[in-house]
Amino acid sequence: MWHFNELTPAEDERLALLLEECGEVIQVIGKIQRHGYLSHDPTSQAQYPPNNRDLLAKELGDVLAAITMMEAGRDIVSSEILTRRDVKLKKVRKYLHHQPEPK
Ligand SMILES: [Mg+2]
Repeated sequence: MWHFNELTPAEDERLALLLEECGEVIQVIGKIQRHGYLSHDPTSQAQYPPNNRDLLAKELGDVLAAITMMEAGRDIVSSEILTRRDVKLKKVRKYLHHQPEPK
């Protein structure tokens, strides 16, 4: 059935995964800003609950997995992502206040 956005079910599913994982990254960033990298969920029943730094790494990995799936599905082109990364690294520097100079 035709849909206005012309997404295939597979494309839509990959976007949904990316959206969900980016949201989880945002949530962890909020926890880190409020409670710090070393804080963890105080209600966790786990013997060694993951701290917020662990959770950020996990969710960033989940985003990379979603990106990998989008590359495989030809939704996006990895070389364009890398090109944009390099542009951003140069462009953002003048707006930052606390980052060391690149070597
Ligand atoms: Mg996740």
